[in-house]
Amino acid sequence: MYYISTRDPNNRITASQAIMKGLSADGGLFLPEEIPQLPKNALEELGNIPYCERAAYVLSLFLTDFSYDELLQYTTKAYSAAKFGTEKIAPMAKLNDRLYVLELYHGPTCAFKDFALQLLPYLLTAALRKNHCDKTVVILTATSGDTGKAALEGFCDVNGTKIGVFYPDGATSKIQRLQMTTQGGENVAVFAVKGNFDDAQNGVKQIFTDTDFAADLCEKGYVLSSANSINWGRLVPQIAYYVSCYCDLCQNGAIKQGEKIDVVVPTGNFGNILAAYYAKQMGVPIEHFICASNQNNVLTEFFTTGRYDRNRPFYTTISPSMDILVSSNLERLLFMQSHSTEQLKDWMQGLAKQGVYELPKDIMQEIRKEFIAGFADDAECKQTINHIWKKYGYLADPHTAVGLKVYQDCLKAGKTSNIAVVAATASPFKFAGDVLQAIEKDELPADEFERLTVLKNVTGLPIPDALYQLRHKAERFTKTCKPQEMPKTILSWLA
Ligand SMILES: *Cc1c(COP(=O)(O)O)cnc(C)c1O
Repeated sequence: MYYISTRDPNNRITASQAIMKGLSADGGLFLPEEIPQLPKNALEELGNIPYCERAAYVLSLFLTDFSYDELLQYTTKAYSAAKFGTEKIAPMAKLNDRLYVLELYHGPTCAFKDFALQLLPYLLTAALRKNHCDKTVVILTATSGDTGKAALEGFCDVNGTKIGVFYPDGATSKIQRLQMTTQGGENVAVFAVKGNFDDAQNGVKQIFTDTDFAADLCEKGYVLSSANSINWGRLVPQIAYYVSCYCDLCQNGAIKQGEKIDVVVPTGNFGNILAAYYAKQMGVPIEHFICASNQNNVLTEFFTTGRYDRNRPFYTTISPSMDILVSSNLERLLFMQSHSTEQLKDWMQGLAKQGVYELPKDIMQEIRKEFIAGFADDAECKQTINHIWKKYGYLADPHTAVGLKVYQDCLKAGKTSNIAVVAATASPFKFAGDVLQAIEKDELPADEFERLTVLKNVTGLPIPDALYQLRHKAERFTKTCKPQEMPKTILSWLA
């Protein structure tokens, strides 16, 4: 199977090349030329095997220049009970007969990004070998809070790689920042960017399309890649957990084989929800995708009106990993729905130049058959954390709570009637202060780690050890740069 760029379908490369490059030099994103189909009975058979085998199977359908055995080796190392604290790796919690939570936050950095970023180092280093590349890969990552740490953890001291992370200064939770700035390892660097996530992501994208910069690095023995969800290697491991959750729902009798479900995803860069869309394209019976945003509700407006307009205030919210106005992965969905590459390029040019594009009615009608969108502001998000805790004894983090709130709205409006799965994207302990306020409303302790302890005492839930250990760690990285200084910053780090 070959991969093409959203902006040039004639440029065909292999899966390993797509993973190596991350972003296409024409500014487009790589995607598979066609979607592999799950054979009949595959969902039944996958139900009987452990997570790492399910994942290796799904990966093998997309990454055809990797063997199944090779992929199984990687998934076995990446998805171990030791790392994820549970044999199930992606367990489900039942809130009621119609509503399940897919817990994606049991990995080493307590967010769903671990599913991709525990695996990506194996995929990427294998991709380098397959393509006889003897250069050191420099992985550049823009993060709104969780990708950075997950990427640092995955690539820390991996031979032949270096990893540089850019996060928006002052816009992550304190725990998220400490997770990144205390990171150990010889091959890592972390920088705060004076700006928001979009500025950081845009800075990284510009570097990727700067051929002079690439040539300069090449001479120094480096090649660039990305650990953001613009990299296909980030998305494909996420498809696996949607396939897996369908198998689990069938296994535990919640649904019958073939029954349609709805999937609710708290969304920022549109990567996680797009992975669910690919699962459907492969044959997983999903009817609707419910795209949940926080107050940065550019996607809600897009799905409602067909107009994507990033010219709007940027809000800093209590779900910081979704504080995004340019959802990069939407380009992959639009590519699949557009009538021509020229049309897609027009929209993307509109976005780059005026910050706006508008889809024709016929295309929006098709998209709306599958996608439903809504948003929740911080107050609604906190009310939802409180309500879900009181009613079901389930503690949701602010991102997951945005998903739960939008699901409830859709249910009331009669937009969803299938059994629904909400993706739980982070541990509530990453956002202990806001979660505590939501369920207790008492005065918060000033110290972040005392908040973790109070949250543990109030809920009886364990503090993830990796987060509690942060209190002893010194911050290693304190450099700040402007978005336009990112290239210079990278060069001086590599020198
Ligand atoms: C990254 C992230 C999201 C958004 O996921 P996208 O793939 O960017 O849509 C939501 N919640 C949490 C906790 C995240 O870390």
